[in-house]
Amino acid sequence: MKKHDSIHANHRVQRDYPAKVKFCPLCGAAMVSRMLMPENAERKVCTRCGFVLFPGPKLVAGCFVIDDGRVLLIRRGIEPAVGKWTFPGGYVDFGENAAEAAIRETREEVGMRVALGPLLGVFNDSAITVVVYLATPGIEAPSLTVEATEVRYFAPDEIQWHDLAFPTTTDALTAWVASTRKSRQSP
Ligand SMILES: [Zn+2]
Repeated sequence: MKKHDSIHANHRVQRDYPAKVKFCPLCGAAMVSRMLMPENAERKVCTRCGFVLFPGPKLVAGCFVIDDGRVLLIRRGIEPAVGKWTFPGGYVDFGENAAEAAIRETREEVGMRVALGPLLGVFNDSAITVVVYLATPGIEAPSLTVEATEVRYFAPDEIQWHDLAFPTTTDALTAWVASTRKSRQSP
C-alpha cells in the first residue's frame, strides 16, 4: 500500500479487533493481559506506558425516516451486507454525538436533511450498539449514492424480512412495526 492511497476498510481485518491487538496504540510497546482492579477483569495493558485497552462496542446511529406511515430503507452499495436492505446510519465519530451522527449519515447516504424525532430504541449485537431515531424527511427527495444503490419507502407489510442487512436491522424494524400496531390500536 502506498502512503497516500485512499482505501476502503477491510472488514475481515476489522473483526480481529480487539482480540489480536499486540502493541500499544500510544507508544508502540507490547501489550500484555493483566487483571485490572477494582473491576477484577482481564485487560490488555501496555508494558511501557501503562495504557489500558477498554474495547467497548462500536456506537452506530441511524434514522427511521417516516413518511405517511412508511419507513425509508436503502439497499447497501458497500460491504458488509452489500445488496441487503437497512436504514441510513453509520459509526458515530469520536467527539460527535449520536443525534448529529444520525443526521450526518442520512445526509451522506441518501442526500436528505432530516429532522430528528424521538428515539425508536437502542439495539445491540456482539460488537456494535445502534441508536435509532425516528425522523421526518427533509424537502430533498432521497437520492442514490455509492452507499445506497436503491432507496424506497416501505409500509410495515412491505418489509422484505429475508433480505435485511444485519440482525440489528431486523430488531429495529420489528420494534417499529410493533409501535405502529400499538398506535393504531390506541384510541
Ligand atoms: Zn504504551
